[in-house]
Amino acid sequence: MLFVCEKCGVIDDSARENNFTNVTYGFENYEDDYFNKHICCTECCPAKYKDGVWTLSGKWHDYFPKKYIWEVNPEVINQLIKENKIYIKSLKNKTRK
Ligand SMILES: [Zn+2]
Repeated sequence: MLFVCEKCGVIDDSARENNFTNVTYGFENYEDDYFNKHICCTECCPAKYKDGVWTLSGKWHDYFPKKYIWEVNPEVINQLIKENKIYIKSLKNKTRK
């Protein structure tokens, strides 16, 4: 499923190396509690879990280009929302580039 990073506003896929599962299942894998409570993209997520194990996060995965939600046609976003293909928790406090 696609989702919007709560930290930077980029659109990422939950199947990539990010904290979507960590947050939705409440695993609390990260030392910084922000990443246990907010769904973030692969690049925003810490490169290590709290047990010191390296993740594949901390950099963009390059499976598809980085796109911020405000760079995408709102009609496309609305269609994705309608089809339940994108998860948008909150866009508050988002700073546009
Ligand atoms: Zn991000």
